[in-house]
Amino acid sequence: MFMTRIIYTSTVTDKFKPNDIEDILTTARKYNDKNAITGLLVFNSKTFLQCLEGSRIDVNSTYNRILSDPRHRDVILLDYRDIDEREFDTWSMGYVPSSSLTTDVNIKYSATRNFNPYHMSGKSVHGLLLSLKDAVPTI
Ligand code: FAD
Repeated sequence: MFMTRIIYTSTVTDKFKPNDIEDILTTARKYNDKNAITGLLVFNSKTFLQCLEGSRIDVNSTYNRILSDPRHRDVILLDYRDIDEREFDTWSMGYVPSSSLTTDVNIKYSATRNFNPYHMSGKSVHGLLLSLKDAVPTI
């Protein structure tokens, strides 16, 4: 069966409440574990950057569910590709807190020091996610 990797970015809406990041992670980990999906979620209190990897069918159906979630908007697909191996296989959904988004890591992959995946290429956001792997606790 093919494996696929999706990377997208989105922005929180006013339906997003302070505890929602915990709820999102709990739900994501439960569903992803069941569907053998792995990945990372980066969040800086305004913008999400998420990578999902797994079977093409499961990644697509998960992405379709995520798309209709009212807690975020302006979902932009940054990268979609078939992959031969996983890169985030340690996590059913690893979480990168905003404290790890230092200006050093942003400037390496972005034109500015700010975290703004809307202005980054698919290749750059992939590089950024790989460089953030060390900042994620094992779950
Ligand atoms: P249900 O739980 O039946 O909910 C029905 C609808 O209400 C859905 O549209 C749901 O999105 C929405 N909803 C659920 N909780 C709330 C709430 N507190 N406030 C407002 N609306 C709500 N799911 C995964 O399975 N894997 C992931 O990796 C994943 N990542 C996510 C990343 C982000 C940034 C966001 C915002 C959500 C993510 N989710 C993820 C959650 C996903 O959007 C669905 O809520 C979840 O998969 C449950 O789907 P469901 O069809 O069973 O919805």
